[in-house]
Amino acid sequence: MNNYERMAELLFPNINKTNQDLEKIYPIRKNNPTVTRFAPSPTGFLHIGGVYTALINRSLASGENDVFMLRLEDTDKKREVAGSRKIICDIFNKLGLKIDEGVVNEFDEVGEYGPYVQSERVEIYHIMAKYLVQKGYAYPCFCTEEDLAQIREQQQALKVTPGYYGSYAKYRNITVEEAQSLIEQNKNYVLRFRVSEDAPLRVTLSDLIRGDIEMENNFNDFVLLKENGIPTYHFAHACDDHFMRTTHVIRGEEWMASFPIHKQLFEALDFALPLYAHVAPVMKQEGESRRKLSKRKDPEANAEFYLQEGYPNKALFVYLYTLINSNFEEWYLANKDASLNDFKISFDNMQLSGALYDLSKLNSISSEIIYEYDEEENTTNVINWAQEFNQELYNRLNNDRDFVLKLMKTQGKNSMEHRKDLTHYGAFMDIFGIFYDDVFASSQMPLDTLYENIKKEDLKTIIDGFKNYFNSLKSGEEITLKDLAKELGYTDKKKFAKNPEMYRGVVFQFYKALRLLLTHSEHGISMDDVISVLGHDRIMERLEKGYQYGE
Ligand code: GLU
Repeated sequence: MNNYERMAELLFPNINKTNQDLEKIYPIRKNNPTVTRFAPSPTGFLHIGGVYTALINRSLASGENDVFMLRLEDTDKKREVAGSRKIICDIFNKLGLKIDEGVVNEFDEVGEYGPYVQSERVEIYHIMAKYLVQKGYAYPCFCTEEDLAQIREQQQALKVTPGYYGSYAKYRNITVEEAQSLIEQNKNYVLRFRVSEDAPLRVTLSDLIRGDIEMENNFNDFVLLKENGIPTYHFAHACDDHFMRTTHVIRGEEWMASFPIHKQLFEALDFALPLYAHVAPVMKQEGESRRKLSKRKDPEANAEFYLQEGYPNKALFVYLYTLINSNFEEWYLANKDASLNDFKISFDNMQLSGALYDLSKLNSISSEIIYEYDEEENTTNVINWAQEFNQELYNRLNNDRDFVLKLMKTQGKNSMEHRKDLTHYGAFMDIFGIFYDDVFASSQMPLDTLYENIKKEDLKTIIDGFKNYFNSLKSGEEITLKDLAKELGYTDKKKFAKNPEMYRGVVFQFYKALRLLLTHSEHGISMDDVISVLGHDRIMERLEKGYQYGE
């Protein structure tokens, strides 16, 4: 046994499996599949940028044998938030982002390459850590915080690059005997990577999105295992993505700078390097500048927001795809009826700088998608959504499904005006609330607008006229609103401009008055729809209330 092997035995006396055993337990996958993964940390929150990255991973692994995994990276116990696994899996399930392998809900995982939760993979990391020590690529470092601070001070004084490297790496050449003695004294240690003395100065990352990027090599003896034996991200990434047989590592841009470390690790571990793609974060325009979409400031940064607000999943995906690939929109317009899964994403069409996130664009895509659904589907969707997120609304809608259907009929392809008012199901009451009696009763008439269109003293006459009109409609007479307007003294713009003293006003004012009396609003669905949705009795009630504004 050489000294490295003796050190490995000292540090990992209970590890008997070898890297060769792991190669057998996690064999190379058959049929050359594309294997991707999304690897969130359980911090209680899934950023929409995460969904964006997951979607890239998911759609890249869209072939028959391909695999998309969800792996939980819970090595940083300080940042962990209880319940995160459920939050993340629920979002995936509700969005319909299929997980082929990995954690699929709070309790279960599927797949032969697990466990898919890093804290359950400690044995694997220790097997490979032992391997690195045996090969001379790793050593224990007993530095305390104070030792490290001292090294930093020394480096500052000498004006050399700070870090744990070369002659500053205090324990780089520790002997087995020294290590043994310190362990016997119960001293804590981390396991560090021993960077080769003849490591090249520069390395090249062949990034699938960015092309070849040359960067300075790593020269720090970075940490592999923390004092508690838990791996750092770097070491876990290498072990997991190798033994899970990941082919494409698609991850946030913030990891790009760590590539030299990863390359050194993969080489030392005798692992083939996967392909890498580093995705730029989604950005938000704020005044003149752009910043990252922020968990703290922007509600839309949270993936749950889209479920809570009732965006159809398809709308979110269409929007994210437009951000992911510049050629998507063209494809989508030409293939409206195709499944989104048929779109082939490509790295060439990905943005190098962060995609600009814009909710108004999502709203416009979403309203188009809601427009495409018929009233039955939209009615079911809004009721299902309310059942989950707004119990009070659910009771309201579910009590009178036919009324919801009537309201939804004012939208979409089957509607008279082809309206697209609804951008997400959560906006249902903003658009249609006024048609419910209690909402109408507690809403305010915009009096200024009313009096701009109808003189106060005319109101009674006008309301009487409207009432007659609706009563006569009910009894089958065929008068029109236009006739009524004329009869009551309204005319077109031209005539009114010539002889204003001869008329009460212009016909559009007469229409506007009716809308205001029935909906307390100047805008909204067509008047024909307002009338048909409300029906005779409700119209009468609302007109009745209008008299008060003429007093
Ligand atoms: N847990 C890492 C993160 O959340 C994953 C990065 C990766 O995909 O490798 O940023």
